[in-house]
Amino acid sequence: MRIAVVGSGYVGLVTGVCLADFGHDIVCVDKDAAKIEALSQGIIPIFEPGLSDLVSTNVAAGRLTFTTDLPTAVGQAEVVFIAVGTPSRRGDGHADLRYVYDVAREVAGALNGFTVVATKSTVPVGTGDEVDHILRAASPEADFTVVSNPEFLREGAAIDDFKRPDRIVIGIEDERAREVMTEVYRPLYLNQAPLQFTNRRTAELIKYSANAFLAMKITFINEVADLCEVAGANVQEVARGIGLDNRIGSKFLHAGPGYGGSCFPKDTQALVKIGQDFGSPMRLVETTVSINEQRKRAMSRKVIAACGGDVRGKTVGILGLTFKPNTDDMREAPSIDIIRGLQDRGARIVAYDPQGMKAAEKLVDGVKFAPNAYSAAEGADVVVLVTEWNEFRSLDLSRLKALMQTPVFVDLRNVYRPQEVRKHGFHYFSVGRPEAGGMGSVSEAAE
Ligand code: NAD
Repeated sequence: MRIAVVGSGYVGLVTGVCLADFGHDIVCVDKDAAKIEALSQGIIPIFEPGLSDLVSTNVAAGRLTFTTDLPTAVGQAEVVFIAVGTPSRRGDGHADLRYVYDVAREVAGALNGFTVVATKSTVPVGTGDEVDHILRAASPEADFTVVSNPEFLREGAAIDDFKRPDRIVIGIEDERAREVMTEVYRPLYLNQAPLQFTNRRTAELIKYSANAFLAMKITFINEVADLCEVAGANVQEVARGIGLDNRIGSKFLHAGPGYGGSCFPKDTQALVKIGQDFGSPMRLVETTVSINEQRKRAMSRKVIAACGGDVRGKTVGILGLTFKPNTDDMREAPSIDIIRGLQDRGARIVAYDPQGMKAAEKLVDGVKFAPNAYSAAEGADVVVLVTEWNEFRSLDLSRLKALMQTPVFVDLRNVYRPQEVRKHGFHYFSVGRPEAGGMGSVSEAAE
């Protein structure tokens, strides 16, 4: 099949590359000429494990090309995916749909023959109707149908998620789209990934509901962690105890500094707005948003408390900046609030992240970036493990301690066993676990 993917960011690029790998003929479109130029030269603008190899293979096989020429790409396509950003609208938290609608206007004039226009971007209920309206108004004669096909991939595991999804949700209003979309995903269908066909509005809401539910689950365990700290319980044992219940499941029950990233914060906020717009408030989600916002800042207070209540003039070594490991994405990362909170109280920040420092430079001022974890700890009064990159899971604790001014370790991801770190002479603080040592945990290896 000939498919155009408009927007070659995380989702568009992964979608295009994976569909090419399925054997389709893909052209990835972006308005960012520098990005397209780089991609055409085999330079991948994002860090995503396995992506670079997959791009090279499919470009070499002639199934994948990159262009800024949207009309030609769309004119030749049977399916056009819209995969542009839908960030939070400044000021009110609504999803900003201008990029989606811009693309719809551009696509309208280029449609040629029956075309399925599938929105992969995460968009509020009713956006498909508006895209349909834009296309129809601009090209009354065109033969097309608008589909909602939300994407559930996770950064850091995007290729695997795309190729082995739990489900593929497809919202259609025209039966002809069922056949076309089944053909797009045929290789996955053969692998028995369930294709859930539904109507367009339902598909749009499935995406927001999924993200909001996961964000609530994280926020729930974070609140339980706070309770554990004052009640003398261990959140990892609680998470294990509830997660083994199949009705609950063990995923997304790792207490930490609050959720961040390019999706959960904006999607929870957007769902709150959608509920308000329809007069059907999403109160659980509203509360989740507010708890999570407070939590990110609260983590800086936790570090300050670990330092005896004052960080003025002290050096804080930050290990990990991205919102999660295996990505270079810094959008809404808790590290930003933590760093600002500490700087406001007079701390000096030295930070290291395996992939996120380039993006972080633009988001935080006055931070010194170190070339590795041990450099970040040099002369520090405290190290704070913010993102659980693999390389932070087995630090040489003796070496780390020897480098530091004061051996204080704040582990916001519960990566280490308290006894193990304390054995090396650290004052160790983690999230939702007994500070005085306690029993430790048999389930400490984070997911
Ligand atoms: P992104 O910012 O990485 O990429 C968007 C791309 O679209 C950019 O390269 C931009 O230049 C391009 N673009 C914008 N307007 C354009 C236009 N008129 N013509 C051509 N290209 C244009 O965004 P992303 O992270 O890939 O997210 C895209 C959508 O997918 C969002 O709605 C997001 O919520 C959703 N989503 C993201 C993820 C994720 O993990 N990042 C997961 C699931 C869903």
